[in-house]
Amino acid sequence: MKTDVDVVVIGGGPVGTTALALLGRAGLTAVGFERETAMWPTARAVHFDGETMRTLQSLGVAARFQEVTIPMKDVEIINETGDVLVHASTDRIGDQAWNDHLSFHQPDIEQLICEVVEGTPEVDLRYGVTVTRVTSVDGGIEVTSVGDDGKEQITRARWAIAADGARSEIRRELGIETDKYGEDAQWLVVDGHLIDSPGYAADMIQFGTHTRPALWLRLPGTRVRMEFMLMSDDDPEEIVTPAAVERISRGVLPVGKFSADRQAVYIFRGRIAQHWRKGNVFLAGDAAHQAPPLFGQGLCAGIRDVENLVWKLDLVRRGLADDALLDTYESERKPHATFWVETAANQAVVIQTIDPKVAEHRDEFIKTHPEASAVPLAPALGAGLHEGANDPRAGRLGIQPILDDGTRLDDMVGKHFLVAADRALYDALPQGLKDALDEDRDTVTLLDPAKVQQLLTSVQGNAVVYRPDHYILGVGDTVADLERLVREIPSIAHIATTTVSTR
Ligand SMILES: Cc1cc2nc3c(=O)[nH]c(=O)nc-3n(C[C@H](O)[C@H](O)[C@H](O)COP(=O)(O)OP(=O)(O)OC[C@H]3O[C@@H](n4cnc5c(N)ncnc54)[C@H](O)[C@@H]3O)c2cc1C
Repeated sequence: MKTDVDVVVIGGGPVGTTALALLGRAGLTAVGFERETAMWPTARAVHFDGETMRTLQSLGVAARFQEVTIPMKDVEIINETGDVLVHASTDRIGDQAWNDHLSFHQPDIEQLICEVVEGTPEVDLRYGVTVTRVTSVDGGIEVTSVGDDGKEQITRARWAIAADGARSEIRRELGIETDKYGEDAQWLVVDGHLIDSPGYAADMIQFGTHTRPALWLRLPGTRVRMEFMLMSDDDPEEIVTPAAVERISRGVLPVGKFSADRQAVYIFRGRIAQHWRKGNVFLAGDAAHQAPPLFGQGLCAGIRDVENLVWKLDLVRRGLADDALLDTYESERKPHATFWVETAANQAVVIQTIDPKVAEHRDEFIKTHPEASAVPLAPALGAGLHEGANDPRAGRLGIQPILDDGTRLDDMVGKHFLVAADRALYDALPQGLKDALDEDRDTVTLLDPAKVQQLLTSVQGNAVVYRPDHYILGVGDTVADLERLVREIPSIAHIATTTVSTR
């Protein structure tokens, strides 16, 4: 089939636009269709982690993004009587070479990513275009869309990424069901500005108040976000008024000291799509998973999805890997995303309790087990292109060292595989394999101790291979380990089997 583009991206929300930006940077051609006529102007996500910052770094906008964020310095859990059950400092540059927790105003980040898309000739985002059908055809897909003028158009592509949000019509059309985690709950989300008022002292507070669970978050400048769970006796019309916001914020957002940009009611829910790939169509972002936003991981997870998928599409497009590599998108990402959805759903049960007795027991438990309230550690990927099944060091996100001259490692490596090894181990590799490493444009080899020491120390090994998405393919202790790992890099395996004798 003759294709118009390599990939069609359905949905121009933050995940769809990030997919387009990553596709374009990788050299794939793509078109995105967004049914709205402009970027959605209201914020939902307010928190990013260091891993997400690495994606923005790879797109060249991390430094600019940092200018419109603030680090989330501390988090608290407070109960009905105002006792601080947990106070944790979160103000640090973490393993990813960025702050572990950053707060922002969502349109700022979407704007930056849209600018990357606009500046990347391989990709195009078209607003005011609704996708109505995706049909599998030999060797690819046909995407039917309707523009504002009512005209129908067919776009032929090899693959489609459906980033069309929580209510994904494409997911429904593909017959993919979702699994439910936890209980759905309605929350009022209030965004606005403080006027000559400091608000709460802590940057993020979860209120385990059984009379009304709530959340407070400081955003850049004078911006703040508050979220309040709706109770059964709330009047839906009254609850969105300034007077109600003042009442339920217990005077923290008084009329005259706070001006609201908007109030909206959301349903916080946990869902995971049962399948993430059907033929040449991949679900990503909220179309694939939705989490109650208690750990601020929904959009982070969506960006992880497209980070995981795009380099694989690129390798398959260039004939350097088989189509089977694309099956690892679901097998790797689904368990990882499920962990966050399940963990957030469990935390929601803890925070959302409205039974005073249960709340009392919970408070006692949190006071005596503060470690149980720590932000959970990210899990490993599910089975895929890594050695995690045999080695717990693999399949996990690798660190990003900051080198002595201040360079962040990714800026040196780019979107490539990375082989970082002790020089003696590398020297002992078969000459043919070293030649393949020299020849391969998809792999960077680092042997300088000044550049690799932090990496090797972090995995407690003599060699480590990173994938282009910064996840660890494997860790080696011996020459045989290093040789095995290098041969697992698809582009090296390709060179080794086609042109170079590695013995
Ligand atoms: C109150 C709240 C707070 C949150 N806080 C955080 C947080 O702090 N951190 C975090 O990481 N996440 C957070 N999240 C989650 C985060 O907002 C979502 O995960 C993220 O916005 C999903 O992005 P998306 O691009 O997948 O979907 P969406 O943003 O929903 O975008 C989908 C797009 O597809 C378009 N579309 C749909 N169907 C079609 C079609 N047929 N044709 C063309 N276009 C179509 C839609 O118009 C839409 O623009 C929060 C969510 C909520 C509700």
